[in-house]
Amino acid sequence: MKSWRDSVRNVVPYTPGEQPKEDGVIKLNTNENPYPPSPKVLEAMKEITNLRKYPDPAVSDLTEALSSYYRIDSSEVFVGVGSDDVLAIAFLTFFNSDVPVFFPDITYSFYDVWADLFQIPFERKPLNEKFEICAQDYYGENGGVIFPNPNAPTGALLELETVRDILDHNREVLVIVDEAYIDFGGESALSLIHDYDNLLVVQTYSKSRSLAGLRIGYAMGNRELIKAMSDVKYSFNSYTMNEPSIVMGTAAIKDEEYFQDTRNKIIKTREWFQEELRELGFSFADSKANFVFAAHESIPARELFEAAKKEKIYVRYFDKPRINNYLRISIGTDEEMQALVRFFKSMMNK
Ligand SMILES: *Cc1c(COP(=O)(O)O)cnc(C)c1O
Repeated sequence: MKSWRDSVRNVVPYTPGEQPKEDGVIKLNTNENPYPPSPKVLEAMKEITNLRKYPDPAVSDLTEALSSYYRIDSSEVFVGVGSDDVLAIAFLTFFNSDVPVFFPDITYSFYDVWADLFQIPFERKPLNEKFEICAQDYYGENGGVIFPNPNAPTGALLELETVRDILDHNREVLVIVDEAYIDFGGESALSLIHDYDNLLVVQTYSKSRSLAGLRIGYAMGNRELIKAMSDVKYSFNSYTMNEPSIVMGTAAIKDEEYFQDTRNKIIKTREWFQEELRELGFSFADSKANFVFAAHESIPARELFEAAKKEKIYVRYFDKPRINNYLRISIGTDEEMQALVRFFKSMMNK
């Protein structure tokens, strides 16, 4: 007997971090920003009057606002529904070779999911023992390269010189730098897009701009790359960005002072928290993101994870090879991080 089951596209989906429903939770498991979005975003909500009509398929207002913020041409910006949408469209648009796409073995766990979904061959390049990306691993023939910078879930940053080195050895394929966390202390590869027509820099509102709920991500690169992605988008769904996101996203990018203020607070809290962790016996790569990826010298990560959860403190644990003794802890407010440190101290009788 023939069945529709024989022709199902079977995929193993990405597992997002838990979004607990209970009250009183300290939520440090999905790298959300602990501070609310700019007050200008809420003010802009009142301007959302035109829900009867379809939104602008070109997302012009937001694209213009981003292009003037980053001082590039609007033809060099592509806006999507979170960087997950932008990255998925980039995979679909550019990774169409029989040679494998390269990405790190420990990295954002959506990359292999999209590769499987779109039937793209890929090869994982192991990070070194210090959890660093080694540029030489990306020199060989490939169908494209993607890595986050800073990397997730390690938090380790590649210097711009190393990003340039990877680009110099990959002039013929698309190189995507996923900069979801770049605003927390790294140097963006945006300055290289006019030197490398095969470089796509992807950023998001979800972490540094406190707007994970709006779903806004964007890619910046050569106009031919942006055109190719737009063509794929319009072949799939023209009206991806909803009107409220366009209006509020445009307002958010214009409040530079608020942005600087909140990201500096997070950086300050991260530096303090890393010192506390070190004193408690954790080891970790220096983080340039809004999370720390840490292993304890004696208590297994799973045990810490489960005990914290009982106290309504949620952190992220990945039961995967090489990283199953690590916790990924998002940087919350000072009060939240102090509560976590107190909890660790009580567990360690310190
Ligand atoms: C959070 C994250 C994304 C996705 O963010 P969106 O909310 O879809 O914009 C992409 N890449 C990395 C490495 C991330 O951590």
